[in-house]
Amino acid sequence: MIQENFSEWYHQILEDAEILDSRYKIKGMPIYRGWGLFIIKTMQRELERMLEEDGHEDVLFPVLIPADVLGKETEHIAGFESQVFWVTHAGSNELERKLALRPTSETPIYDMFSLWIRSHTDLPLKVHQSCSVYRYETKHTRPLIRGREFLWNEGHSAHESLDDAEKNIDAIKKIYSILIQEFLCIPFITDRRPDWDKFPGAHYSLAFDTLMPNGKTLQIATVHNLGQNFSKVFDITFETEKGTHEHVYQTSYGPSFGRLLAALISIHSDKKGLILPPQVAPIQVILIPILFKESEKKRILEYTSKIKSRLEKLGVRVKIDDGEGRPGAKFYYWEMKGVPLRLEVGPRDLKGKKITIVRRDTAKKSEIDFDGIEDVSNILTDIKNNMREKAEKKFRDSFYEVKTTEEIKEYLDKGIVTAGWCGNKECAEEIEGYGNILCVTDDSGICAVCGKGGNEIRVGKSY
Ligand SMILES: [Zn+2]
Repeated sequence: MIQENFSEWYHQILEDAEILDSRYKIKGMPIYRGWGLFIIKTMQRELERMLEEDGHEDVLFPVLIPADVLGKETEHIAGFESQVFWVTHAGSNELERKLALRPTSETPIYDMFSLWIRSHTDLPLKVHQSCSVYRYETKHTRPLIRGREFLWNEGHSAHESLDDAEKNIDAIKKIYSILIQEFLCIPFITDRRPDWDKFPGAHYSLAFDTLMPNGKTLQIATVHNLGQNFSKVFDITFETEKGTHEHVYQTSYGPSFGRLLAALISIHSDKKGLILPPQVAPIQVILIPILFKESEKKRILEYTSKIKSRLEKLGVRVKIDDGEGRPGAKFYYWEMKGVPLRLEVGPRDLKGKKITIVRRDTAKKSEIDFDGIEDVSNILTDIKNNMREKAEKKFRDSFYEVKTTEEIKEYLDKGIVTAGWCGNKECAEEIEGYGNILCVTDDSGICAVCGKGGNEIRVGKSY
C-alpha cells in the first residue's frame, strides 16, 4: 500500500495526475495545474459560501505590507521575521520604507479596522479573503504541504466582548468541520496548541490536525483567539452603548487549501492512483464506449451521448472518452486520475438498454438500466459516504495510549499517541525530541519521562 513508499508515491501522483508541476525555477513555488486547481477552487467556493452566509464580508487586501505596519506588534513580527520576503527597490531606486509580501494579514487588516470601527453598531465585523501568502521557509519544502507561496483563505473578526469572540470561534470550528469532514471526507482532531507553539501574538491557537498515510500529522487549519492584543497595538476602539470607549476582541483563522488538497489526495488514494470524493472531482463520471465492430460503432456512440446528456441534466460532471486506444488503457488512466465512477457502454449494454458501472472506491462492477439512470446520483452520494466512513475508521484506529518514552518513540511511526507529561520544560523537551506535543488534553496523566503526575498530552510526528 501507499504508506510504505509514501513520499515517492506522493510526488509521482502529483505529476501523473497533473495536480502540480514542481519544475518552476523558484524552490517552493510550484504551478497548480487544472486537475488540482479545480479541486482547490471547489473547496474555496464552498468555504466562501459558508463564511458569507455567516456574515463575513469578502475583501481583498494588497499583497504588500509596509514594514512599520507589519512590525507594529512585536511578538507577531518576531514570529515571522525570518520568513518575510522584502521588496526593497522600485526600479533602480531604493524604497524609503521597505515593503513585505504578506506572510499573513493580521497587521494590514487591523490597521484598516482601526479606521472602519467607530461604534458598537459596527460590530461584529467579520471579513475574509482567499489569496496567496509568502513565507521564506527554511525547512525542507514539500509540494502543497510546505511552500514559499501558498493559497489559503484567512478570516478576521472584531467583537464587543471576549464572549462574542469565543462564540465566533465556535461558529468557525463548525464551518471548518463541515468543509473538512463533510465535504472533503478528511478526518481530523482539534488540538489546542501548547503555549510555545501558538500563533505569534495570539492568546491561544486551535489547530485542525489530520493524519497522513506515513503516520505524520498535518495541520490543515488554525483558529486563533487574539484577545485585545492586536486591538491595543492598532488602537481599534468602539463606543459602547453607554458612551465609553473600549478595545475590540479579535479572532483570526484560516485553512490552507494546498494542505487540504495534500490530505485529500493522500488519505483517500491507493496504489492505482487518486480516489476523489465526487463533490470535488473535476469529472465525476467517465463514459467509455467499448467498440468491437465497425458496424456497431455509430449506434454505440449515439447511445453513449444519450447517456451523457441524461447525466448532464442530473447535474453530473461527465465526459466521454472516445479517443484512440484500448479500453483497458483508458480504464487505467481514469482510475489513476481518481474519477469516482466509470460507465462502460458495449454492444451487450446497447442491446439490453443497460449500462455497466464500476466504482473507483470499491472497484465493484454492477449494471443499471438506462431508464434507471437517476440512480447514478445516489451511487455518487454513496461513494462520498463510504469514503468518509473508511477514512474516519482508519483515523480512529491510529491513536495509541502509551506510558513510557520508549513506547512514544515506537508508536509515533504508526500514528498519534496519548501520553502523560508533568508540565516541566525539560520533560517536554525530551518528548519533543521524538515528536511534537500537539495538545494538552486534561490533567489525568503520569509523565512519561519522570513519572510525576500531570497532564495528558497528544503527541504526533508533524510535517
Ligand atoms: Zn516529567
